[in-house]
Amino acid sequence: MSKRIIRQLNADLIDQIAAGEVIERPASVLKELLENAIDAGARQVDVEAGGGGIRLLRIRDDGHGIPPEQIPLAMAPHATSKITSLDELERVATLGFRGEALPSIASVSRLSIRSSTDGDGGWEATGPYRAGQQAAPCAHPRGTTVEMRDLFHNVPARRKFLRTEQTEFRHIDRMLRRTALSRFETGFRLSHDGRVVRDYPAATTDARRASRIADVVGKGFVEQTIEVDTSRAGLRLWGWLGQPSIARSQADWQYMFVNGRAIRDKVVTHAIKQGFGDVLHHARQPAYVLFLEMDPAGVDVNAHPAKHEVRFRDQGKIHGFLSHVVSQALAGAAPTKPHHAE
Ligand code: ADP
Ligand code: MG
Repeated sequence: MSKRIIRQLNADLIDQIAAGEVIERPASVLKELLENAIDAGARQVDVEAGGGGIRLLRIRDDGHGIPPEQIPLAMAPHATSKITSLDELERVATLGFRGEALPSIASVSRLSIRSSTDGDGGWEATGPYRAGQQAAPCAHPRGTTVEMRDLFHNVPARRKFLRTEQTEFRHIDRMLRRTALSRFETGFRLSHDGRVVRDYPAATTDARRASRIADVVGKGFVEQTIEVDTSRAGLRLWGWLGQPSIARSQADWQYMFVNGRAIRDKVVTHAIKQGFGDVLHHARQPAYVLFLEMDPAGVDVNAHPAKHEVRFRDQGKIHGFLSHVVSQALAGAAPTKPHHAE
């Protein structure tokens, strides 16, 4: 009879297993680091990727920074400045709150953080977190630079699942563009192997917003949209609905943000489609960029470690509101052009 011995896993292995839930590829690292920059109130975020983001991802923001003594702690598991209690979790308004991103990234790559809260010199620490670790002085303007190198260098099994640099970079680019849609007032720049690929200045005017949407979603989208902005019973839906005539065969022009967080949700997709009603052939997918704003207490954002799924406390209310606003907007939108469903 073979002996089955129960042992507690060592801490490194626990961290690597946990990291697997959040960090799948370079784009998931980018997602977490962009969220942190946004939560820090950044006005400008610059992303440098090297080798598809596998070899290098460097994200620099001009947000509030991290105090020197807390820089190592930021990389400790379950360490966060964003919530302190269950009550705060239930009404969390920041994108992050789990305190898992930096420790996860640190456990599967080479991570370093440089930061300054006042621009008067900066402080630097490298991962992984070690108790008693101290930050060392360095030069850094106000804000934070997080640098990730050699993703999965110590987890060959995961590294094998990465695709080509080109494919990984495509995911990075998509992540950056989607994030840029969620925060018009923030500037985003992305470069790959030294070449600037995207440069979105802060979009504070209609023209700049339109040009950002055109670049992210597609030119064909902005030219045929209906603007929406309706508030009712604590809910607000604003953004752009594509005319039925530009509906797609795939769901690739659908961008939905709940309180600034990009989400995928069946209730939402279904409600919007229902709002389009008969004007849309059943196989066609509506195009939209929509922002739902609501009391954070009405939506559970802790449904998934990577936080792209949410649970609405009152699904029926959300569904009814979305489909109503969409159908009203379509009904009120100029003389309906004859539409040919194929
Ligand atoms: P979470 O975002 O869930 O709190 P993270 O592991 O992503 O967890 O980050 C841990 C903490 O490090 C954050 O709560 C925040 O205090 C700090 N932090 C991380 N990135 C930044 C940043 N770019 N600017 C300022 N503070 C940051
Ligand atoms: Mg975070």
